[in-house]
Amino acid sequence: MTGTLTYTDSVDESWAARAVETISVSVTPDVDNPIVLDLSGTCPRCRDDMADSHWLIAFSGVSGMTRDDAIVAATALRDAGIVAESLLPAEFTVQCRCAVPHPDPLQRTGLRGCGAAWRMRFELTDDDLAGDE
Ligand SMILES: [Zn+2]
Ligand SMILES: [Zn+2]
Repeated sequence: MTGTLTYTDSVDESWAARAVETISVSVTPDVDNPIVLDLSGTCPRCRDDMADSHWLIAFSGVSGMTRDDAIVAATALRDAGIVAESLLPAEFTVQCRCAVPHPDPLQRTGLRGCGAAWRMRFELTDDDLAGDE
């Protein structure tokens, strides 16, 4: 399918279910202190490799901040009690960010990925918490 699949604006409910199988999520810096969810795997629609990050604590107006700086800043907010509530489980929208060009029937420019978007949910399982305390 790669290369000939066109960009889409429609949504297929089956992508979310398939993404659970094709995309893995890792937690940064660790499961006790989740700040960023890193997604990697293959797009449930076009099946190309893709990676994305979902920030559980978002900073606005600091786009120049490096990833490490943002993690430090988010950790400081949490330690200060400003971010007191649990950030997990998290539910968020993921968009395909593959690097393979998918031609847009509407000739738009600057598009990335194949246009697929789906909801993902991430929560800690008992396995992740094993060894806690
Ligand atoms: Zn693709
Ligand atoms: Zn895709």
